[in-house]
Amino acid sequence: MAVRHETQAPEFDAIIIGAGISGLYQLHRLRELGMRVLVLESGTGVGGTWYWNRYPGARFDSESYSYSYSFSQELLDEWNWSEHFAAQPETLRYLNHVADRFDLRRDIRFRSRVTAAHWQEATRRWEVTLEDGSRCSAQFLITAIGPLSAPTMPLIEGIDSFQGQSCHTARWPHEPVSFEGKRVAVIGTGATGVQTIQEVAKTAGHLTVFQRTPNWCAPLHNSRIDAATMAEIKAGYPEMFRRCQETFACFLHTPDPRGTFEVTPEERKAFWEKLYAERGFGIWQGNFRDILVDRAANALLSDFVARKIRERVKDQAVAEKLIPKNHGFGTRRVPLETRYYEVYNQPNVRLVDIKATPIERITPNGIKTSDAEYAFDIIIYATGFDAITGSFDRIDIRGADGLRLKDKWAGGPQTYLGVMVKDFPNMMMLMGPHTALGNIPRSIEYNVDWVTGLLRFARDNGLDRVEATAAGVASWTDHVKSLGVGLLSNEVDSWMTGINRNVEGKQTRIIARYSGSAPAYRARCDEVAAQQYRELALG
Ligand SMILES: Cc1cc2nc3c(=O)[nH]c(=O)nc-3n(C[C@H](O)[C@H](O)[C@H](O)COP(=O)(O)OP(=O)(O)OC[C@H]3O[C@@H](n4cnc5c(N)ncnc54)[C@H](O)[C@@H]3O)c2cc1C
Repeated sequence: MAVRHETQAPEFDAIIIGAGISGLYQLHRLRELGMRVLVLESGTGVGGTWYWNRYPGARFDSESYSYSYSFSQELLDEWNWSEHFAAQPETLRYLNHVADRFDLRRDIRFRSRVTAAHWQEATRRWEVTLEDGSRCSAQFLITAIGPLSAPTMPLIEGIDSFQGQSCHTARWPHEPVSFEGKRVAVIGTGATGVQTIQEVAKTAGHLTVFQRTPNWCAPLHNSRIDAATMAEIKAGYPEMFRRCQETFACFLHTPDPRGTFEVTPEERKAFWEKLYAERGFGIWQGNFRDILVDRAANALLSDFVARKIRERVKDQAVAEKLIPKNHGFGTRRVPLETRYYEVYNQPNVRLVDIKATPIERITPNGIKTSDAEYAFDIIIYATGFDAITGSFDRIDIRGADGLRLKDKWAGGPQTYLGVMVKDFPNMMMLMGPHTALGNIPRSIEYNVDWVTGLLRFARDNGLDRVEATAAGVASWTDHVKSLGVGLLSNEVDSWMTGINRNVEGKQTRIIARYSGSAPAYRARCDEVAAQQYRELALG
């Protein structure tokens, strides 16, 4: 479909950056259009999140089967999940299976970090540069670089001086790491830290957890899936995926239509007990409809969960440290856990509150806080990601007239449907800012299909330039901002509000994600497609 021009760089119809769930599916779909596609991936294999995050305890918080791709009946039929919440090695096997099954690898170039992508108005193509200096070009640039794929290390002095082993959870070695008899430190208690801590505590000689901000965690209630149950799940796939299309955030769980104060205290308690005993995100995503907007409702639920923490942790001083005081339940990403709180009852585990006694530096032997020095064999950095825009900031993306995306978004992202940006023609983002996230593969499949539809339209109509308009961007960005009004989560520092104290320039809250319902998001995008993309500047 592309008009070919004479340059030295290899030419493609589309370049996709990233071979995670988004990039793999987009490649599959664009091949169906007959396009010549190249996927550039910095890792040595497919899988994205599930390729990089090999830390102990890494696993789903979405039910495995609700997270699978749904686009291929054959794929659904042939794959069996072994647990309701599969661990990372199984998910990575699954994504490798997908890559093999659809013969995707022949169009993926691994060990290929994209450092720059520049729009060339003269040729109406994107010129892409890799870390090794090589270049290639394409009519369309599709970013599939992940909302959580740019890891951040803490800004602590002396990190390089440590003489033991140290590792960020998202850059975990491919070989097993033994904690047997070792003195281990974990810095960070977000979703990843919680999964890591509960696993490492099983074998470590001694584990010290450095916590800045406790999070509200809830039980995962994972269990194995036997053959009969898997057969039942398979038989129920059409109904299950239909449900995921209808729920607020594409999870199996969706808000209860009742308000917290519309039921009696006894009914409320019974409902919360039930949710606390159920597997998965029910207590977060399937709770009363007002718990994330009504301060009193949220406080009541937070009290309920705080009581659970006090019951599960023997030392009440430690329990108090584990109970968040600066945000309510569900206003940050809720880590799901398996006996996480009980870890703190073990004699080999110690919790250090680094708000009270800050880390001063990493030393050759371990960690020095304001009141003590600790010796370690291993330091694990569970310090998360420069979320949502971080992977964009790491690429020098320049649109029309050399405009840098990073500068354009200096005051927060501005997008059209979370997919396009004005002045960046022919660039489409998968899982970029301002798009619906939730149970992410469900959103990915929609996003990819929408982008595929747009590229088909461009091909069929001989268009070689599609771009968001100023009015379209202003209207979507305002809409996203208005959806955030009144949400308690937008009054809290978190990666969802664009805050990362370890990243320069990320100290001011922004509205980084779309917080409306997934069905409403899809309805809006469907409408744009049905109106023949009239809202775009087409040329
Ligand atoms: C530990 C963990 C657990 C999670 N659990 C869940 C869950 O249970 N449910 C859920 O819905 N979501 C979960 N997520 C979110 C998860 O990121 C998404 O579900 C999904 O994997 C995103 O897929 P993606 O393809 O969009 O991005 P990613 O999987 O992040 O893939 C992006 C790819 O782009 C590559 N890349 C980035 N920049 C460049 C560059 N400049 N050059 C070349 N390649 C580049 C990266 O190497 C990576 O392989 C979890 C995330 C983490 C970190």
